[in-house]
Amino acid sequence: MASFDVMPNVQLYQPAELDDALELADRLGEQGWLLGGGQDTYGWLKDRAKNPQAMIDLNGIEALKGIRETADGIEIGAATTLRDIIRNPLLKERYRLLVDAASRVASPQIRNVGTLGGNLVQDTRCWYYRRGLSCYRAGGNLCYADSPEGMNREHALFGASRCVAVSPSDTATAMVALDATMVINSVDGERTVPASKFFAGPATHITRMTSLEPGEILAAVRLPSKWAGKRFYFEKVADRNVWDFALVSIAVAMDVSDNVIGECRFVCGGVAAVPYRLNKVEQAARGQSLGDATGDKLAPLAAQGARPLNYNHFKMPLMENLVRRAMRG
Ligand SMILES: Cc1cc2nc3c(=O)[nH]c(=O)nc-3n(C[C@H](O)[C@H](O)[C@H](O)COP(=O)(O)OP(=O)(O)OC[C@H]3O[C@@H](n4cnc5c(N)ncnc54)[C@H](O)[C@@H]3O)c2cc1C
Ligand code: SF4
Repeated sequence: MASFDVMPNVQLYQPAELDDALELADRLGEQGWLLGGGQDTYGWLKDRAKNPQAMIDLNGIEALKGIRETADGIEIGAATTLRDIIRNPLLKERYRLLVDAASRVASPQIRNVGTLGGNLVQDTRCWYYRRGLSCYRAGGNLCYADSPEGMNREHALFGASRCVAVSPSDTATAMVALDATMVINSVDGERTVPASKFFAGPATHITRMTSLEPGEILAAVRLPSKWAGKRFYFEKVADRNVWDFALVSIAVAMDVSDNVIGECRFVCGGVAAVPYRLNKVEQAARGQSLGDATGDKLAPLAAQGARPLNYNHFKMPLMENLVRRAMRG
């Protein structure tokens, strides 16, 4: 498929107020496209694989930016850049997991302009789909990746339903591990959704990666104080250490007291269309002491229930080893 050097003709709106953006989003519906830093968007437009009529640039809206303390934790505006998240002292001190995850997104240049909202809402990287083929996710009736000849090394181990694409967002795993709340606005007002329900698998929404409806804007993310300053672990395995998406990543939040694990979250990226919670590992970890012996005990639970495709079996031992590494004392 051809890739073009020039942008297609798209009407550009640059509202300064959230209400104006919401009114535009409502009016334009599926013809409109919300624009954060554009780092996912411009690829789609350049390849003409998505053809929105109009873009609503969110970068001039101050209400969507910034990192502030609340009565129960921290709220981050969705148009805050990943760079600002990485540099923020409060987040570094209390929610290092998110800082570590954001630090592994793409390259410094992309993090300088890429926003948290754009990172969380970005579409899957399945190359068949990205190149404009009419697969299930694009509204067609087949999956090129899950076929006998399909190249599916990067695809899903869990939760496939016709589509086997994975969630590409590094910060999404941290959001689920931290029990974040997503604040969503529309002309009808505000609704909040737990991060664990915000990301949508193909059985729910095969043409979307989140539960956002047309006309809705992700306004902010709230991190609860219950995880502030706890023990965290983030690791991302990719083919290269720059400009590359996770083959498998892990985001872990643990309440550890006297070396004994209490409540905990283990979440993998790159293995399902949503950040994938390792429920069996979490259950088995509670009451155990941190250390290599527990890691060896928990690791075999990590990939239980996986349904590998032709070329992605290697993700199973990767998941197991990431759990082991997260448990090191
Ligand atoms: C070379 C390259 C490497 C990359 N590597 C990684 C990586 O390693 N890890 C990773 O996680 N990502 C990676 N990305 C993906 C992505 O570009 C970045 O994650 C970036 O953070 C996206 O943010 P953005 O603001 O630029 O998104 P945009 O392109 O502006 O938006 C992305 C999507 O989110 C929607 N959107 C944006 N803001 C909102 C909002 N507030 N409410 C609702 N919808 C919204 C847009 O409509 C669009 O559909 C990479 C991209 C490139 C080009
Ligand atoms: S994995 Fe999903 S996005 Fe990729 S070709 Fe199959 S249906 Fe399309």
